[in-house]
Amino acid sequence: MEWRPFGWTGEQVAVVGQGTWKLPPGRRSVQALRLGLDLGMTHVDAAELYANEEVVGEAIAGRRKEVFLASKVLPTHASRAGTRTACEQSLRRLGTDHLDLYLLHWRGSIPIEETMAAMEDLVARGMTRFIGVSNFDVHELEEAQKALTKEKIASNQVLYHLEDRGIERKLIPYCAKHGIAVVAYSPFGHDSFPGPDTPGGRLLKQIGARYGKTPHQVALRFLTRHDNVFVIPKAARTEHVIENSGGVGWQLSEEDIALIDKAFPAPDHDVPLGMI
Ligand code: NAP
Repeated sequence: MEWRPFGWTGEQVAVVGQGTWKLPPGRRSVQALRLGLDLGMTHVDAAELYANEEVVGEAIAGRRKEVFLASKVLPTHASRAGTRTACEQSLRRLGTDHLDLYLLHWRGSIPIEETMAAMEDLVARGMTRFIGVSNFDVHELEEAQKALTKEKIASNQVLYHLEDRGIERKLIPYCAKHGIAVVAYSPFGHDSFPGPDTPGGRLLKQIGARYGKTPHQVALRFLTRHDNVFVIPKAARTEHVIENSGGVGWQLSEEDIALIDKAFPAPDHDVPLGMI
């Protein structure tokens, strides 16, 4: 595994972590997550929305110290009192007394000042070490940061994959400048990965062959070529878990990056932040 500092926190975090959305309950999922931990994919991304935090809890039982554990509050719960209750409930389901990172899942109608005050309170109580947001564009990040009086936003979790590269224009540079770790969700497009018979799919295969890597591994390496970007692919199948752990720890050449850039172009104008 490859590690890098998680924004201003300086915490060394695995570049490839593990998503858990739609990870079904059961032994297979617990085993997949544990295998991921064995392979160094110790950033585990949970959320109250996913209704499976107990699975994560079971997987990390006895291994909490190895894990960089993130969870998220739903915008509808993100009031002053609701945020604390939601966090308490996540902690109980995850079987731990603290998170490493707690995020507002997306912007809702509760004023950001209220949610951020609640988040600061969680840090003060030791319920989470760091706080952040998800699905926030630059202006929303600025508002969230302004609403904080003691803490700093540590991370923004956003959609980023080969066919949705809008965040490269302004969001990634903004986050780099302010020490905010970008966590790329749905790095395989949530089941819309370029097929082997498409021109893009063929190119990824061709490039991968030069390094002994698969198209999915090439995609993970391409997305994490910026040094403030982390990825959290979800994999219920053990062969996928193993494959994803090999998405980093090697480098694409400048020529190959240019070929991928051409096949999956970033937009040439500002676009609204993508969201799943
Ligand atoms: P994803 O990681 O882009 O794709 C998951 C799909 O790819 C699954 O069907 C998985 O199959 C398959 N897969 C995984 N590794 C593979 C490999 N090496 N080769 C071929 N197929 C592979 O999609 P995602 O779950 O939407 O995103 C990842 C995580 O990001 C989520 O689980 C969640 O934690 C987070 N997320 C956050 C938000 C947000 O709003 N903050 C939104 C969406 C997602 P198997 O499972 O069968 O192995």
